[in-house]
Amino acid sequence: MLLRVKKNCNQKCVFCSFDSKKENARYSFSALAQSLPEGKELIQISGGEPLLCDPVELLKLCVFLCKKGKTIEFQTNAVLLPQLSENYVKKLADIINLSKGYFNINFSSADADTDYKITRTKNAFDFRLKAVKKIKKLKVPLRLTFVVNSLNFTSLEKFARLALSLKPDLVQFSFVKGQGSAFGKKRLIPPYEKVSPYIIKAMEILSGKGINFEADHIPSCHLGKFWRKNVDTQKALSKIKGPHMSEKKHVGECLNCEIRNLCFGPRKDYLKIRKFKKGKILK
Ligand code: SF4
Repeated sequence: MLLRVKKNCNQKCVFCSFDSKKENARYSFSALAQSLPEGKELIQISGGEPLLCDPVELLKLCVFLCKKGKTIEFQTNAVLLPQLSENYVKKLADIINLSKGYFNINFSSADADTDYKITRTKNAFDFRLKAVKKIKKLKVPLRLTFVVNSLNFTSLEKFARLALSLKPDLVQFSFVKGQGSAFGKKRLIPPYEKVSPYIIKAMEILSGKGINFEADHIPSCHLGKFWRKNVDTQKALSKIKGPHMSEKKHVGECLNCEIRNLCFGPRKDYLKIRKFKKGKILK
């Protein structure tokens, strides 16, 4: 369940998939208590930027979800994290740990210049680096999400090397969605076949180095020998259903695909602006 807790953001990412004009970002504990799904469901705390919320309210929310037995994925750009007190960040990390959850930091560049082009926010890269180091010290699981787009895909290899030094638990390469700020923007959404060699190289760099990695929103056939690292393929293998199934569709090139039952095809928003070319699955 995605829980948007703040409309505003302190960055202006070119690829932001949140449309603050269409979507709401309010919650109340009583409404939440009624709408929370049963079981140990993953709750993604997101925004905008959650760290712009009142810090005490944010902690209360995390405690509430943790007490309800939910696992928390705390999605943040992390720019504000180094400015928060050690004590506060430790409390937040402790609750996330207790929920068996993790921090997800959107980290979509390998250097400050590219970061600025993407986030249009001064010094964001340096703050994010500091935040990652702070979180690593607190021993709470950490996922870095690199949103692959036209401005950064050629630096995927450099990012993989940076990730090796930062030692997150998981790196996710998430192909830009054609929605929100990137809606219909061909210049931001590169062809899968152009990105494919760079993403495969980045995965080769991470492979066998103790950092798990996966890819989302780019079909398995563009991941070469790493096709099983596609998030949808992993879900299909575990028979997990969800919205990932309806946001993609099979096209003509998928007809004779040997893993058609493990992939839902390219994203529909990608097909609106680009012709799909099948990649190569290496077994
Ligand atoms: S089903 Fe289509 S998109 Fe998916 S791996 Fe096969 S050819 Fe590629």
